[in-house]
Amino acid sequence: MSNKSTLTKLSDESLARQPDEVFDIICKIGRGSYGSVYKALHKESGQVLAIKQVPVDTDLQEIIKEISIMQQCDSRYIVKYYGSYFKNTDLWIVMEYCGAGSVSDIMRLRNKTLTEDEISFILCHALKGLEYLHQRRKIHRDIKAGNILLNTEGHAKLADFGVAGQLTDTMAKRNTVIGTPYWMAPEVIQEIGYDCVADIWSLGITALEMAEGKPPYGDIHPMRAIFMIPTKPPPSFRNPDKWSQEFIDFVSQCLVKSPEERATAVQLLQHEFITRTKGSSILMKMIQEAKEIQEAKAMMNENDIDNDSDEEEEEGSGTMVQRDSPSGTLIAKDSDTGTIVPSNSGTVIVNSESGTMVSELGTMVINDSEEEEEEDSDEDTMKRHDTDPNMKAKYRPAFLDHFEKKEAESKVTSNGTPQNVTPPMPGGSFQRSFVDGDFEFLSNLTFDELQKRWETLDPEMEREIEELRKRYQAKRQPILDAIDAKKRRQRDF
Ligand code: ATP
Repeated sequence: MSNKSTLTKLSDESLARQPDEVFDIICKIGRGSYGSVYKALHKESGQVLAIKQVPVDTDLQEIIKEISIMQQCDSRYIVKYYGSYFKNTDLWIVMEYCGAGSVSDIMRLRNKTLTEDEISFILCHALKGLEYLHQRRKIHRDIKAGNILLNTEGHAKLADFGVAGQLTDTMAKRNTVIGTPYWMAPEVIQEIGYDCVADIWSLGITALEMAEGKPPYGDIHPMRAIFMIPTKPPPSFRNPDKWSQEFIDFVSQCLVKSPEERATAVQLLQHEFITRTKGSSILMKMIQEAKEIQEAKAMMNENDIDNDSDEEEEEGSGTMVQRDSPSGTLIAKDSDTGTIVPSNSGTVIVNSESGTMVSELGTMVINDSEEEEEEDSDEDTMKRHDTDPNMKAKYRPAFLDHFEKKEAESKVTSNGTPQNVTPPMPGGSFQRSFVDGDFEFLSNLTFDELQKRWETLDPEMEREIEELRKRYQAKRQPILDAIDAKKRRQRDF
């Protein structure tokens, strides 16, 4: 590898060395579900790179899948993968550095949603990334503003292939429920099988997210959103008068409920909203502004003598993204001014009917069917949850645990003393507060007890819905599998 050249791949020689001999870690950029991401210098070429460090005791299968998909891609619209190392108990994944962070990082930092020109440019690049993936029968499955990274030249790239999948010739469609709830296509939620155009639905939701600061249904509990997405008409702009006809039409072509009628990446690249897009300079102002805010924050962190958390000290200066910083994931406050309100814990505020809840919207994987495991020859790209029926019954999406944890936390008073609350039933099953239909006993409860019951009703209902969903799924899946098998036989015949 020649000195100071642009790095395309790490040489065998450098891959055989210890990573700390090959790279200088500059600073921490952020943290994801599997590990932390660092900005690093490749000593030999002088190139700046991103390194994701993942403890090996995490779900390596996931990480291997992410690496495998990235490794197979060579597109300027997809974050490049250079190689990996094992160092002590960590796997180091070396990839292209996108210095401006994700689109959602930028919205959060500037506390602003994006303009049509900015959105059109980002969508154009994202569509080119999707065109590349879909031509190779790969599905990203987690398209959202948080997974579109920008480099300092103003180019957008698809990132985070942790849940991406590979369609093979023997498998026309997948059944796994996967992605992040608000961005999920109806057919993904319904588990009726889906293919590449599921990413196009998510892209349409991402367009609304960039315009309005949050995806549709972003202010309701994700479990409820999951029920609403397939049952309600496709979402659109809250305030259509603010947007051009082309933009509205573009989003409506992405958000077609029937996947067969939904536009493909190739078709959407010809859409007027995309063909009219301006050059990458359109993003430079917003990138520069976000950088300045970031630097000012870093300065403030350095000067903050009260900053006593280890984590914060480590992430303090030069950090592009701090997931746990006060500028966490946002909610839109005012769609007219485009102002967004950051929440205080790297989280999204979800307003439920009974009040305000705080959720962390992790990517969710509900179920990988046995069929997938059998049929997918590209094993490295597979999600492998245990298919043992008992295990399946126990599986719960991670974000539900988060809601339960938050609920438990909310029952701890400000001085840290737990309030007198009924403990949850073992095994996560919901607590039955009364025999169905008999509410007599309620009149004997105190005001406080009634208040507590009212507060816990929503989480109880979520659990109940989830239990029901699992039972429904357990009954429906074999029928769907049988239908699929029939269709395949007919097709083969
Ligand atoms: P999750 O792991 O739950 O999907 P995530 O996508 O935020 O969450 P990571 O992929 O680990 O998690 O990334 C953590 C943060 O680091 C991201 O929010 C992003 O801002 C930043 N980041 C990730 N990859 C790069 C990169 N190649 N260049 C620059 N910044 C990056």
